[in-house]
Amino acid sequence: MTSFNVRQLKLTPGEEHRQALEVELPSFEFGGQLYVPVPGEIESELVVTRTLTGTLFTLAFRARLHGPCHRCLGDAVLELALSAREYQASSPDDEELSTPYLEGDELALSAWARDAVSLALPDKILCVPDCAGLCQFCGENLNEHPHEHERVELDPRWAALESLRNET
Ligand SMILES: [Zn+2]
Ligand SMILES: [Zn+2]
Repeated sequence: MTSFNVRQLKLTPGEEHRQALEVELPSFEFGGQLYVPVPGEIESELVVTRTLTGTLFTLAFRARLHGPCHRCLGDAVLELALSAREYQASSPDDEELSTPYLEGDELALSAWARDAVSLALPDKILCVPDCAGLCQFCGENLNEHPHEHERVELDPRWAALESLRNET
């Protein structure tokens, strides 16, 4: 896990410190599946800006996650370009003016980057936006083998359930 010691920075109000850093990004569990960042160390840029009343932190990075497609379970890759901001007041009176990622002088970059990615994840991670998914009758991948089955007559009660299911 990557952290950054902010004590070494002796910034006066108005000054900023800019630094390129490699930040270790942990794997994610999302919808019961595992998504792995490739590479596991992301290139990022940290900017620390001293203001009159506190310190502003900005972390910009790109991350690429590999994992299964939500519909067909094939390989999906998600690329994200993010810029996250945190603020720490010099004398925080309430919790809103302090960042949870600063513990003493250590800024927990890995935890911060992980949370930023979590917040940016789409509802569903797909291999392609219009992934056809798996056939509900035979389980075959409909992207690779598009096909249809003879219409199966359903009990009307099941049909009602089925249409409910298809709406989600
Ligand atoms: Zn897919
Ligand atoms: Zn089928």
